Amino acid sequence: MSFLPPAFTGSLKGLPGYNEETFLRVHASGARITSVRLQPRKAGDAAALFPQLETERVPWSHDGYYLSSRPSFTFDPQFHAGAYYVQEASSMFLEAAVRQTVPLDTPLKALDLCAAPGGKTTLLQAVLHPDSLLVANEVIKPRAAVLADNITRWGAENVVVTNNDPRDFARLDEYFDLLNVDAPCSGSGLFRRDPEAVQEWSLDNVALCSQRQQRILADALPALKPGGTLIYSTCSYSQEEDEQIADWLVAEFGMESLPLQTQPQWGIVATQSPQHGAHGYRFYPDKVKGEGFFIACFRKPGEPGTPRAHRLKTALLAAKDAARLTPWLAEKDVFAFTDHHGEAILLTPAMAADLAFLQKHLYIRKAGVKMGQLTAKELVPDHQLALSTAVAAGLPAVELDLENALRYLRKEDIRLDEATKGWTLMRFHGMNLGWAKVLPNRVNNYYPKEMRILKASAPDA
Ligand code: SAM
Repeated sequence: MSFLPPAFTGSLKGLPGYNEETFLRVHASGARITSVRLQPRKAGDAAALFPQLETERVPWSHDGYYLSSRPSFTFDPQFHAGAYYVQEASSMFLEAAVRQTVPLDTPLKALDLCAAPGGKTTLLQAVLHPDSLLVANEVIKPRAAVLADNITRWGAENVVVTNNDPRDFARLDEYFDLLNVDAPCSGSGLFRRDPEAVQEWSLDNVALCSQRQQRILADALPALKPGGTLIYSTCSYSQEEDEQIADWLVAEFGMESLPLQTQPQWGIVATQSPQHGAHGYRFYPDKVKGEGFFIACFRKPGEPGTPRAHRLKTALLAAKDAARLTPWLAEKDVFAFTDHHGEAILLTPAMAADLAFLQKHLYIRKAGVKMGQLTAKELVPDHQLALSTAVAAGLPAVELDLENALRYLRKEDIRLDEATKGWTLMRFHGMNLGWAKVLPNRVNNYYPKEMRILKASAPDA
């Protein structure tokens, strides 16, 4: 007996690439696939990160790896250092889509509209030109907080996290070169991983999701430049949320469908929408090593115009204050700095040019990297700086063993045999975990309370 209801499996009959027998079998198997994507600016070697496990490349992703079993990520300090992001392998195909539809040799303005918890954002950040400006938006406030924490861990400088409704982006008329919409959906693609979620599936919900997807896209499309790229994805198998949305995009907005190259051995099913033949790519867990997923790419009609200028200026820190921040950074003269409620914030040049403009139209949850509080005496460094890939390598630092690293991450007291006094980076395997302040007779643990490990001990993998 399958745990998948007949109303669901019945609705998939006849879909391109759907094979009921193998589909049911793979769901009944309970097989669990674990995959991670490395942060290339922090870690390059999957085997070194997971010496106890076998690792295998995800074929469509440069930094993606399957792991032979699921370790306890919570109790791996490297996870908290942002060395990798735990991401479902099919979703990593976004990388192949971006590489084929977006110029990567030039800085872009990109919007990841439905971004929490941050899987696609961290992927885009790694793949796009490093001088790009990436806005990661999430409409649900607590999820926006999780997104911001994940961006902090990833350590990227060029991401602005916003907490807005898609319709608010209409105010940024023709601003973005790339719009990624990983839409909220009925979620059938994750049923193997999360069988409980089947209870919530219904044809009515599929119809509601389809309407919501159209609303989200219609709201955000004005913010995409003519000639810009839209990448649309779901983790649903339902045609109403996939090919029918592709048809609607072509019919309503004249979007041009973009085909993608795939390798036959990857098992990805290329489909075309029933009315307009728009290209889409389906991922079935009985055919690919990953969960259910759908992705389609489009070009917005029209010629890209000259970027619109705005006159809003971001207030920057005075040169003498900026000079006090640069010793904390690996590269000098690259970044600009601003002040936000007494905290110094590092901004990339693209961000410095546009932050005031973005602030006028959006609710910004996080921009750039919080450097810390610049008092008359010192910089009280922020956690974001410790995890940023911009932080200087030669700052005072102490390498912790696993036990001490976990104590540090639980925000417990730690003892250090030898350390110079003052602000010190706590490291594990050479990667920054956060700050401690070493005093003559004690060490103050500055790990952020809200990010600390709460679980008592490591569960079995
Ligand atoms: N892109 C994310 C990632 O890769 O980690 C996953 C995004 S998830 C599939 C869809 C997101 O859309 C959720 O975070 C959800 O909160 C958000 N969402 C829900 N309703 C929405 C709406 N009406 N407009 C925009 N986003 C919405």
